[in-house]
Amino acid sequence: MGEVEKVFISGLREKLIEDKVITEQDLVPEFASEIIRYGGKDVMTCLQCGNCTGVCPISLKIEYKTRTTIKYCQFGMKSHTLSTRWVCATCYRCYEHCPADLNPAELMIALRHIAVREGIVPPFVKTAASNLLRYGLTVKPDEAMLKEREQLGLPQAAITKPGWERVKKDINTIIETTKYDRLLGITNKEEGE
Ligand code: SF4
Ligand code: SF4
Repeated sequence: MGEVEKVFISGLREKLIEDKVITEQDLVPEFASEIIRYGGKDVMTCLQCGNCTGVCPISLKIEYKTRTTIKYCQFGMKSHTLSTRWVCATCYRCYEHCPADLNPAELMIALRHIAVREGIVPPFVKTAASNLLRYGLTVKPDEAMLKEREQLGLPQAAITKPGWERVKKDINTIIETTKYDRLLGITNKEEGE
């Protein structure tokens, strides 16, 4: 059986995997307990009401909606779930509307913790983390950006402030001590440095 495509009235399409054959080998029965160990609540308390998906600001942009992700967690579909939650904005709107007090936002964070430990980190996350190490910002600042900040009256970016080298050293000490760089597979060095 192939993938099923659900088409929304907006024209966006959601690929579903319900139609795929899931074998016992695909399931990890202890996945729900693992999520709790990494800071999530018990996914088995989810009522599948869909409120979380309804209020999620990114739900139309993501392949697997929040409610669907939680259903896969309930089933123990670990490998189907881990790579899907990196665009969650952690806005906590889902938490505010969840009748089961499940806190899907923190579930998404728990899924990221587990994914990192399994070596599943999307390239855009690695880029943002490397930029944080190098520039104190998740985006690489350039001349145009620095000028725009100045024109808008925003505070100076950290790298242009006196004392940045000391701050950078402190950031690197934290990164090395926590092994954050090795965990994510990132470096504080520019290519060619
Ligand atoms: S916390 Fe994440 S999953 Fe929940 S509503 Fe916000 S973006 Fe959606
Ligand atoms: S709002 Fe809560 S109970 Fe409803 S589907 Fe989402 S997580 Fe489950």
